[in-house]
Amino acid sequence: MSQPVLRFAPSPNGHLHLGHAYSALLNAKLAQQLGGRFLVRIEDIDKARCTQTLIDEMFEDLTWLGVTCEEPVRRQSEHFEAYAEALAQLEATGLVYRAYASRAQVKAFISTYEETGRSWPRDPDGAPLYPPEEAILSPETLASLAADPNAPFALRLDMAKALKLIGAELFWQELVDLNAPAVSQKAHPELWGDVVLARKDTPTSYHLSVVLDDALQGITHVVRGQDLYHATSVHRLLQELLGLPAPTYHHHKLILDDDGRKLAKSNKSTSLRSLREQGTSAPEIRQMLGFA
Ligand code: GLU
Repeated sequence: MSQPVLRFAPSPNGHLHLGHAYSALLNAKLAQQLGGRFLVRIEDIDKARCTQTLIDEMFEDLTWLGVTCEEPVRRQSEHFEAYAEALAQLEATGLVYRAYASRAQVKAFISTYEETGRSWPRDPDGAPLYPPEEAILSPETLASLAADPNAPFALRLDMAKALKLIGAELFWQELVDLNAPAVSQKAHPELWGDVVLARKDTPTSYHLSVVLDDALQGITHVVRGQDLYHATSVHRLLQELLGLPAPTYHHHKLILDDDGRKLAKSNKSTSLRSLREQGTSAPEIRQMLGFA
């Protein structure tokens, strides 16, 4: 078997918190245990929110925590052409369409639909599935949007068509227990509907870039939070459509706050910086997270 390659792939749109520390430490530890490599990848496709200062501070926090990685570090914002190429590959299969309905229009459609007592399907993150556009926009509006070079749009995957093209059930290998063999999990990409692959001004999305980068970087083990468990279904589908290998996955527990909620970057009290400022040491953090 080839050498294991693991990665910690934060989006630097806020400061790292205890949840990130757990994920980084777990990836680094597993890489070491497996005799593998450990990479950090900067997921900064949202250039407006991911600033250079936040990236610098992220590395400062990781170094303080004792997490070091291989250089050079892949930074997604430097690889938009690679994502555009993958997108073009998908577009060539006729699985991608321009979606013009705005968030407000989708919302209005769904509330009207739900006023009748029915409920519109939601994805595993709780967001409503993108409705068929003809249900929201008239043919005339759609035609004029398509003809307008200034009209914003999202590029969405036609899920029904994609599933038909694949024509088989998809699975991935999940290390449910890190000390036991991986277990096969059935992917349910259909639960996500027509996912966004890119937008008019951003030639990629989280799903597309993560799948492509994991393949380009030869990632063998994707170790990330449980909150991304269901996203793996979309990732398996994209891997299949793009002819990319499927890594083994481990979705780790989430570090929760005192009220049992997932930590948020906006919650200052659990950021590594503020803990450090309050006098917590890096060994204490590691111990707190079970990496003593
Ligand atoms: N960049 C994503 C995040 O910070 C993680 C992506 C992944 O590990 O697949 O939530």
